[in-house]
Amino acid sequence: MLRRELPLEANHGRLLRVAAGRIAPGAENTPLQAAQPWPDSVQPLAYWHDEPIALSVEEQAGEDWPDGRQWLSRLPESWFPLISTALQVAAWLRDHRFCGRCGVPASRLDAEFAMHCEQCGHRNYPRISPCIITLVTHGDAMLLARSPRFPPGRYSTLAGFIEPGESAEEAVHREVYEEVGISVGRIRYYRSQAWPFPHALMLGFFAEAASRRIRIDGIEIADAAWFQPKRLPQLPPPYSISRALIETHLAEVADGIGVK
Ligand SMILES: [Zn+2]
Repeated sequence: MLRRELPLEANHGRLLRVAAGRIAPGAENTPLQAAQPWPDSVQPLAYWHDEPIALSVEEQAGEDWPDGRQWLSRLPESWFPLISTALQVAAWLRDHRFCGRCGVPASRLDAEFAMHCEQCGHRNYPRISPCIITLVTHGDAMLLARSPRFPPGRYSTLAGFIEPGESAEEAVHREVYEEVGISVGRIRYYRSQAWPFPHALMLGFFAEAASRRIRIDGIEIADAAWFQPKRLPQLPPPYSISRALIETHLAEVADGIGVK
């Protein structure tokens, strides 16, 4: 399991090699490279089953490096926090080499995940972008939609970034209305999940639709429809909070909870 403490004393341990959202294959069908001395360029990341782990952020991924989704689908769910943390910290290091305020090269601090500007003192930390993800229901039925980017046949819950100054609940109302033209009420918080594509924090909600009439926006959403529990489309992957929202609703319907 993952311990969120930087292994600052270690100079030897296992490495995760990450480039552009892809992670190099390592030992024993995992992404962890065998234990080795750490060069100064690596970012100490965490402890994994009490072993120190560091991140090597590289310029170019090898052709055989699986991307984050491929790793998540082939590894047990217990790996999710490590993979998610590694991808997000690697994306941040790659994208924050220069000070965003004055533009000079920034340097990495040791004691925490931070990039520091010697010239103006500005610091930046790994970016986390809060998003809402909502399963809209009407009785037993679920409103699922597909983005133009999805694999053919797949439908999922509605999601979107929270805008500056907006609460999560306001974002649920706005995103659902923008994407499918439906007003929702009885918003109920479910749980959250870090989502490393590239650095979202998904806040999961259930919401009840005021009506079933769908008006899709045609940009973010290619299609949306109501689905009954007995006739489901291809669903999002098992490691996603989207899938957990759907499975939770299905279990509640099976138990006779929340059915109108
Ligand atoms: Zn600066």
